Amino acid sequence: MTDCLFCKMIAGEIQPDVVFENEHVLAFRDINPQAPTHILVVPKEHIATINDLDEAHGWLVGQLYLAAKAIAAQEGIAEAGYRTVMNCNAGAGQSVYHIHLHVLGGRQMNWPPG
Ligand code: 5GP
Ligand code: ZN
Repeated sequence: MTDCLFCKMIAGEIQPDVVFENEHVLAFRDINPQAPTHILVVPKEHIATINDLDEAHGWLVGQLYLAAKAIAAQEGIAEAGYRTVMNCNAGAGQSVYHIHLHVLGGRQMNWPPG
């Protein structure tokens, strides 16, 4: 997707602050962090929303969580705790239409979320 911000990052056209990368996912610091640690984990395949997932994407979605686990350990927030969030569509506040797992930690997270 040529007009997708996260696809441009994956293609190397825009350089985010990368904290983790493998063959399947790219993870980088959010430009507008909502917690001391706020990282976005993005699949290298363009998928617009959770609603666009199909059965074949199941393994890839698992890779997002395995990356989140590794990142939490790397960031030193694994034991204290962290939150993973994936927003779907405007009603949930999705603003970039390439799925991404938010990894938030480094402070007490509240419930219910806003
Ligand atoms: P959403 O609102 O779609 O769940 O999350 C999109 C996230 O992308 C937001 O938290 C926003 O701050 C982040 N974001 C938007 N533009 C950029 C950018 O250019 N660089 C980085 N690193 N994050 C961005
Ligand atoms: Zn994309």
